[in-house]
Amino acid sequence: MNDAATIGLEVPTRTAGLLEALFRRSGVDGLHARTDRFERVVEGLQTLITQHREKDVEVLRFPPVMSRRNLEKSGYLHSFPHLLGAVCCLHGDETAIRAAVDRPDEKGGWVASLAATDLVLSPAACYPVYPLAAERGPVAGKGLIFDVACDCFRHEPSLNIDRMQSFRMREYVFVGAPGQVNAFRARWIERAQGIAEQLGLSHQLAGASDPFFGRVGKIMAVSQMEQELKLEMLIPVRSADEPTACMSFNCHRDHFGEAWGLRCEDGTVAHTGCVAFGIDRLALALFAQHGLDLVKWPRTVRTALSLNP
Ligand code: AMP
Ligand code: ZN
Repeated sequence: MNDAATIGLEVPTRTAGLLEALFRRSGVDGLHARTDRFERVVEGLQTLITQHREKDVEVLRFPPVMSRRNLEKSGYLHSFPHLLGAVCCLHGDETAIRAAVDRPDEKGGWVASLAATDLVLSPAACYPVYPLAAERGPVAGKGLIFDVACDCFRHEPSLNIDRMQSFRMREYVFVGAPGQVNAFRARWIERAQGIAEQLGLSHQLAGASDPFFGRVGKIMAVSQMEQELKLEMLIPVRSADEPTACMSFNCHRDHFGEAWGLRCEDGTVAHTGCVAFGIDRLALALFAQHGLDLVKWPRTVRTALSLNP
């Protein structure tokens, strides 16, 4: 067997083991039921991230759906229309809904009658926070920090264990002056590296870009890279050669400030930034690194994740 074939076989076997041990299949790519073993680690991660929370942070937990209007106003359809999922329902009176349900599959079935609602599936945890912050008027001198989380959806079905359609995201979000956003991001990059070390995870920081849509998106991605607006922490999940983005550190500059009329006390447009933890990917990285048997994980890692009895 040549080297390429050996490598080709190795990677799926490794992730197949993780898949079997940690998830139950749903019949849809990128959508899994999570086992108790996986969830214990997820809970440990959430607690650890809370332990690193700064002072004066407002905690908000969002539902997995958000206002369609607000996501539109945030510019999401310009940047990532290919990833968005919208909530659709059957509308109308009893007769209309009954007719839709009874429509035969060859005529499009009930799905042909679906129409949009005012909800979309949240693609990231921080989108709902900017309109909330804007409603409160000018941002006080020291800025605002939020701790937010939600189940996120992105339409990117994949056989790769680390690319899910539904996954959990936790974020710290800063709203304030440009220099404050940079300082917030720098603090969090350092803190996040400490967290990865506490967890015994090999990690590297890399410049990154978002998966912007289409040809214009390619230009946006290059500009994002050049300006170092997005950094990611890469940690091995599927392979050490192709580590997975498990956290991101983002400067949005005045994008959300402009969209929502967010102002600092001196009248300038507020800047925003966020640090995002991909909770499911971090949990997977821990299992990939330390094995499937939680009891055998290093004591320090178990302590960090509150797994010790
Ligand atoms: P992003 O907003 O793309 O920077 O995403 C924030 C974090 O969410 C990433 O660093 C990942 O850890 C996680 N994430 C993004 N997309 C997915 C996905 N399809 N499946 C699992 N986790 C994801
Ligand atoms: Zn964010």
